Amino acid sequence: MKVLVINCGSSSLKYQVIDSETEQVLAKGLCERIGIDGRLKYTPAGGETEVTDAPMPTHKEAVQMVLDALVNEKTGALSNLSEIGAVGHRVVHGGERFTKSAVIDDEFIAGVEAVSDLAPLHNPANIIGIRACQALMPGVPQVGVFDTAFHQTMPQKAYMYGVDYKYYEDYQVRKYGFHGTSHSFVSKRAAEIVGKPLESLKTIVCHLGNGASICAVDGGKSVDTSMGLSPLEGLIMGTRSGDIDPSAVEYIANKEGLDFAGVMNVLNKKSGVEGISGVSSDFRDLCAAADEGNERAKLALAMFSYRVAKYVGSYAAAMNGVDVIAFTAGIGENTPSVRADVCSYLKFLGVEINEELNKEVHGDEKKISAGDSKVLVYVIPTNEELAIARETVALV
Ligand code: ADP
Repeated sequence: MKVLVINCGSSSLKYQVIDSETEQVLAKGLCERIGIDGRLKYTPAGGETEVTDAPMPTHKEAVQMVLDALVNEKTGALSNLSEIGAVGHRVVHGGERFTKSAVIDDEFIAGVEAVSDLAPLHNPANIIGIRACQALMPGVPQVGVFDTAFHQTMPQKAYMYGVDYKYYEDYQVRKYGFHGTSHSFVSKRAAEIVGKPLESLKTIVCHLGNGASICAVDGGKSVDTSMGLSPLEGLIMGTRSGDIDPSAVEYIANKEGLDFAGVMNVLNKKSGVEGISGVSSDFRDLCAAADEGNERAKLALAMFSYRVAKYVGSYAAAMNGVDVIAFTAGIGENTPSVRADVCSYLKFLGVEINEELNKEVHGDEKKISAGDSKVLVYVIPTNEELAIARETVALV
């Protein structure tokens, strides 16, 4: 079956067409600036990227442009739209209601709308994308795959915050976690590579991208994760602060004359390694600046790795051990210095990496732990689109 995978943001739409039998990507691309003007990027397998500027007042026009590109006579990956057997949508927040992926119907949409307060920027955009596909591909089954669902196995002691219980009862204030599709994909792949049953392994997945989170996976189930009610909690990220004392929110607001939205904007968009370094949120720029002696870039990198290592240590405690540590996403797959720095704090767990091997791994699936390491350490590229396509096929 050919599956169209859609990841809808407020003004963008990423897509891939995946052949579920061969798991090959037939075409992929992106619509940008939806609601502003509109630009389609389309790359067929093995072909050149085409860029087309065309008005996209809403996501519906964007989906229509994607479908037109897919059946374009010269470069289209499909000869007919009827080849698309199903559509898989990334949906950010499923609250407590969605513990796994689900076929999309009216009840599904109502359920996602009901938890939109928890992800006010993302869930409404996801629903717009779903409705656009429903309108343009009537009768094609659609599936929603949640970022949060994998973490619904966390025990209550892990997901509760230490605040009055009524906030949980009345407003579902708790840790949900994100990047679940990636953590699930990578932990399953780790078990395959190690050649042991998933149920027998304690794995810590470090998804280190512009958004970054860590997950403790015990026997295939998420038992703790670093992102929380929103993706702001946990690690220091590209522009997000990660964990801070909430009192700093009030203090900064008072000093800078900001309201809640203003401080949240600071914590989400003007903090993290970019805010600390004053250089960039991109690790390639940061590493280059640090190599040239930029002290704040060095500090940002040191803080990033230190925070990752502290979470890995705490998750080893949460699971009473760890068998496998897996690095994934842009930084985890491509930045050997970060992996080496993180692992340097973990020697007490018996983590030893092969420094030479580690330096060579950029985006490949490879073991980087030394032969005598008590914990296996891997780089495992994530593939959220493939994971969504697999879930979609399984459900339809
Ligand atoms: P997100 O999906 O959250 O936007 P990514 O997983 O794409 O983030 O990760 C982005 C980060 O990964 C950036 O800091 C970037 O510097 C780093 N990165 C991505 N690709 C490479 C690469 N080929 N070499 C070095 N760093 C990379």
